Amino acid sequence: NWEKLSGDITFENVWFKYPDGNEFILEDFSLHIPAGTTVAIVGETGAGKSTLVNLACRFFEPTKGRVLIDGRDYRERSQLWLHSALGYVLQDPHLFSGTVMENIRYGRLEATDAEVVAAARLVSADVVAAKLPDGYATQVGEGGDRLSTGEKQLVSFARAVLADPPIFVLDEATSSIDTETELLIQNAISHILNGRTSFIIAHRLSTIRRADIILVVDDGKIVERGTHEEL
Ligand code: ATP
Ligand code: MG
Repeated sequence: NWEKLSGDITFENVWFKYPDGNEFILEDFSLHIPAGTTVAIVGETGAGKSTLVNLACRFFEPTKGRVLIDGRDYRERSQLWLHSALGYVLQDPHLFSGTVMENIRYGRLEATDAEVVAAARLVSADVVAAKLPDGYATQVGEGGDRLSTGEKQLVSFARAVLADPPIFVLDEATSSIDTETELLIQNAISHILNGRTSFIIAHRLSTIRRADIILVVDDGKIVERGTHEEL
């Protein structure tokens, strides 16, 4: 039952290589994120930032070492258990084919239309819906391809707000996002961080400033750690 989770995350001596890769991306990586902390991860392209998120979300599992959630190896639990405890907005988000409404509700299937719309409003995903021909009933297409990256991210934010998980992961988009959508995303971020452990791959200074801890990652290792003022 994830409602009892506080959202404390520990990487314990994690070694990782992708199944089709031949070199370790993470070598003996350790990190403790106390519950409720906002951690920003910055670093150059290929540094291993998304890989860290892939492991935190258990899209991939450590080759060696463990990832603990509230002190317990996540491999002792089902995938479903972890996925109901975390919300994520990925760099290149994929929605499933269905309507905007269905995509947001995916986080909490019993939610009423009014609850879905309220969550969408909080993170400005209502602006996305308003631009579409059939509003919330618009079919987003395969993978959500009828929406731009920024729009898909806003829909994903709404899903996460509705599900209200103890852990939230954001891999900021690197693709170009127009200024208006960018502002909406910044607003969405400020609504989602409070009260949960957040793991944010940040490309924008505005996002980095919100973090309690900033980790600078290079070649799969933390090379610097501190607050925005310290770094
Ligand atoms: P960016 O800022 O460009 O998103 P990143 O810091 O997120 O970069 P990662 O995607 O974690 O970098 O990549 C780290 C290394 O792992 C790179 O060398 C990359 O080529 C490799 N890699 C990433 N994803 C995979 C994958 N699915 N299979 C094999 N290798 C991968
Ligand atoms: Mg990445």
